[in-house]
Amino acid sequence: MDTAEPSIFSRIVAREIPADVVFESDRLIAFRDIAPQAPVHVLVVPKTEQYRNVSELAAGDPGLLAELVATASDIASEHSDGDYRLVFNTGAGAGQTVFHVHAHVLAGGLGEDTLG
Ligand code: 5GP
Repeated sequence: MDTAEPSIFSRIVAREIPADVVFESDRLIAFRDIAPQAPVHVLVVPKTEQYRNVSELAAGDPGLLAELVATASDIASEHSDGDYRLVFNTGAGAGQTVFHVHAHVLAGGLGEDTLG
């Protein structure tokens, strides 16, 4: 029996915990990060938690990854000037804390010389 707890992001999908949702489709949800690192900081998340990181998503469902990137671009256009940084922390050593794949969309007044 699978006794794994749903991820925090699955609980947002299920509306068990609140979030400021800016986009939702059949397969994706996007909401503002609770601890923003940029004027616009939105997480774009597949509703399924079967992929822990972007490498697994790319291998398992490249179409869904393409949808995620297109959604990130749309969000940057809607919420800022269309320029954005897309970050996938992959692995605890790279700062990943939620092992349910998600992209950080960072936009609006980003510096030119940092990586994140
Ligand atoms: P990671 O470090 O895994 O790349 O990113 C996880 C992100 O999720 C962090 O930026 C963190 O602020 C955000 N986060 C964690 N818990 C919640 C939550 O309950 N609600 C929202 N909106 N964001 C969260």
